[in-house]
Amino acid sequence: MLRIAVQTKGRLNEQSLELLREAGVTIKEEKRKFLMRASDFPVEILFLRDDDIPQTVAMGAADLGIVGYNEVAERGYEVDVLQKLGFGGCRISLAIPKNDEYTGVEYFNGKRIATSYPNVLKRFFGEKGVEASVHTITGSVEIAPAAGLADAIFDIVSSGGTLITNGLVEVEQVLQSEAVLIGTPGLSDEKMAVARQLMSRFESVQKGYGKKYLVLNLPVAALDEAVKILPAMRSPTVIPLAQSEWCSLQTVVDETELWTIIEKLKAIGAEGILVLPLEKIVL
Ligand code: ATP
Ligand code: MG
Repeated sequence: MLRIAVQTKGRLNEQSLELLREAGVTIKEEKRKFLMRASDFPVEILFLRDDDIPQTVAMGAADLGIVGYNEVAERGYEVDVLQKLGFGGCRISLAIPKNDEYTGVEYFNGKRIATSYPNVLKRFFGEKGVEASVHTITGSVEIAPAAGLADAIFDIVSSGGTLITNGLVEVEQVLQSEAVLIGTPGLSDEKMAVARQLMSRFESVQKGYGKKYLVLNLPVAALDEAVKILPAMRSPTVIPLAQSEWCSLQTVVDETELWTIIEKLKAIGAEGILVLPLEKIVL
């Protein structure tokens, strides 16, 4: 049976389980154990700290894992990155005290940098020819400069709020990260077939992220104009209404474009506009 490692708790736990659930892999939540069998798909879920997931997958103790790409890059274990999962987005960046003048990466020569990602940082400095001393801290890296422990930090940033609170400014984005599906290199054909099935389901779920289903009524005369406005997957579905000069139009739109599209459609006479949630897109 295929075994997937997932974070026990923390930032990626909920979304990992949500993705699995939407892909038809569910576990009984009442009493969560270390290892649980899914009720409707031939996989079991192994709950681990995120730090341990890359190694567990590299060793083959789990066949697949869902973990931040940042952990994969830092730990350096040999795993296959099979799929980007579209959540848990963040970056690992260098940040310096906000009153310092930043002149480019050579700023870091001779400086002390606190980080929980020493390997990623040393690789970056190696490529840029920077000679700095890298201090590994596992706790709150962002307080290191104010505490006199370091001159700068290399840490995970998502909104940037933590940096501002600590009087720091982001100067180099070194690694972009998001949750990824990783796999043990050389999985058996049998396991790879299940993994592929899962990946295709994940893809359908991800395609639905940030999408809405739009239903509206439109004068038939405005149909050509509406088709130009709508970015449907092929073309929008058009259904006749009882009133012959009107039709109903249905299509999928990106949430980011939703309001612009609605306003344009209203301008050409659309009425009764419904915006519905979209769960999955299976192509
Ligand atoms: P664990 O107890 O499993 O070791 P953790 O405390 O090391 O958990 P979390 O803080 O739960 O880790 O973060 C898990 C992952 O979430 C990170 O490795 C990263 O990929 C992602 N992430 C997204 N945004 C952020 C953020 N703002 N800060 C930290 N991690 C983030
Ligand atoms: Mg961790």
